[in-house]
Amino acid sequence: MATVFEMIINGDIPSTKLYEDELCLVILDINPINYGHALVISKKVYPTFTDCPAETLSHMMEIAKKVDRKQRQALGAEGTNIIINNSPASGQEVPHLHIHVIPRFNGDGKTAAIEKGKYDADALSAMGAKLCL
Ligand code: AMP
Repeated sequence: MATVFEMIINGDIPSTKLYEDELCLVILDINPINYGHALVISKKVYPTFTDCPAETLSHMMEIAKKVDRKQRQALGAEGTNIIINNSPASGQEVPHLHIHVIPRFNGDGKTAAIEKGKYDADALSAMGAKLCL
C-alpha cells in the first residue's frame, strides 16, 4: 500500500509544497510542533534512513539546511530541530524517509528532549567496545 507521502508525490492527496526537485520534495507537516514545521521527503520510497543511498541523503540534508535558513529568515526562528525518526521503535509513523525541520524559538515551551540515563564506568567502556566501528 502506498505511503501517505507517495500519495502526496503522486498528486493523489493535497499538500502545502515548499520545494520540489528530482530527488525530494518539501511540504508543511499538517500537525506542526511549531508553525512552519516542514518535512523533506525522498521522492523514492526508502522505508528508513538506513535504506537511503548516500547521494540522496546528502542532497536532502542540503535541502534541510535551506529550509532551516528560510525558517530563520521568514519566521524569525532562533533554532531548529532536525529529526529523522528511524523505524517504528523510534516513533517513525510513515515508513518513507523524511527529515523533520522544526522551527524553534527561545522559550517556546516545546521540548525535543528524550529522557536520558547514566552509565557506570564499566558499562560505559563496555558499550564503547561493543559499538566501536
Ligand atoms: P514520523 O513520525 O517521523 O513518521 O512523522 C510523520 C509526520 O508526517 C508526522 O509529523 C505527521 O504529522 C506528518 N503527516 C502525516 N500525514 C501528513 C499529510 N497528509 N501531510 C503532511 N504531513 C503529514
